[in-house]
Amino acid sequence: MCNFIVRFPGSKPGVIVLGTHYETNYPLRNINFVGANDGASTTGLLMTIADQLRALAAHGKKMDGYSVWLVFFDGEEAIQQWSRSDSTYGSRHLAAKWGRDGTLSQIKAFLLADMIGDKDLDIERETHSTAWLVDLVAQAAKRFGDQQYFFKQDMDVEDDHLPFVERGVPSIDIIDLDYGPNNSYHHTAQDTMDKISAHSLTIDGDVFMETIRLIDAR
Ligand SMILES: [Zn+2]
Repeated sequence: MCNFIVRFPGSKPGVIVLGTHYETNYPLRNINFVGANDGASTTGLLMTIADQLRALAAHGKKMDGYSVWLVFFDGEEAIQQWSRSDSTYGSRHLAAKWGRDGTLSQIKAFLLADMIGDKDLDIERETHSTAWLVDLVAQAAKRFGDQQYFFKQDMDVEDDHLPFVERGVPSIDIIDLDYGPNNSYHHTAQDTMDKISAHSLTIDGDVFMETIRLIDAR
């Protein structure tokens, strides 16, 4: 497995990490699973954010504010059956490594995006997530009049943020686990490009960029 990390240096010490998993579900290869939402949508989102950050860091200069690192995790999905030891391989590896080498102490916030490309955007308030970061994301959403897409219900989700939460890094999982009628598209061959919404991804992108600004201003 292989994580990818893209670093945009900032003008002040400290790092904001944005994460997603980019791999699709290995055991579902035999049903022609493509993972348009579950993996690809948020990978595309972070790649587009990379373009925005590159523009902010024009002419080789540092961006104002904290550094922003984009992390594309491998191995989020289970290989056999989901458990804490058979899932989130890439994030568990990276959080442990960054704990050993001291990198974690530089991280001001970790924002994880997962499954937020679908038409019916309804992002849960993930209960392991750090309260002040949840508040900041809600504030960012409100700025664009998009608060109706965020945090209508609480949900406990195991995801790539947990290895960071457990090591004391302020973290949030921005996830919409309800995908399709009665969640019928999740981990099925129905998770295809036609279910993906440019409108939802625009909301996500606006809110991520605004949240970075709010963390910088904090
Ligand atoms: Zn999945």
